Amino acid sequence: MDKNSDSSLSHTKNCRMCGKIFSHPHNTICHECLIKDEEDFQKVRLFLKEFPGSKANTVEKYTGVSRKKILKYLREERLEITENSTDFADFLKCAKCGKPIPTGVYCSECYLAFTKEINTLFSNEKDNVTPKMHIKINRKNNI
Ligand SMILES: [Zn+2]
Ligand SMILES: [Zn+2]
Repeated sequence: MDKNSDSSLSHTKNCRMCGKIFSHPHNTICHECLIKDEEDFQKVRLFLKEFPGSKANTVEKYTGVSRKKILKYLREERLEITENSTDFADFLKCAKCGKPIPTGVYCSECYLAFTKEINTLFSNEKDNVTPKMHIKINRKNNI
């Protein structure tokens, strides 16, 4: 995706949104885009608060925020699809099985399967040399 990323320079990178070179230890977008991103998010959030269950293209039309960006907010669990919004349900799909999901990246089943897989991976370790760990699940809502 990045055409000219030069990660050899410490913290200097191209903004993923506008391409401008900026310096930050972990942000992938520059400060200006970060503010813009937050503004756009607030626009979408307020619109959905006023008109819950709106269709993706309606939100895009009235807020001027692209569907691509709205999808990004959903993936980041900053937004959640309401049950009655079939259009949005069609919009966001589980990255693994393709089932419509209201927020995040995976559906609850794939998420569970995934965490189970990791648990098995660790419990299969016969020797107890390594300290035991457990997974901290911080998923906010179940579907
Ligand atoms: Zn930028
Ligand atoms: Zn799934």
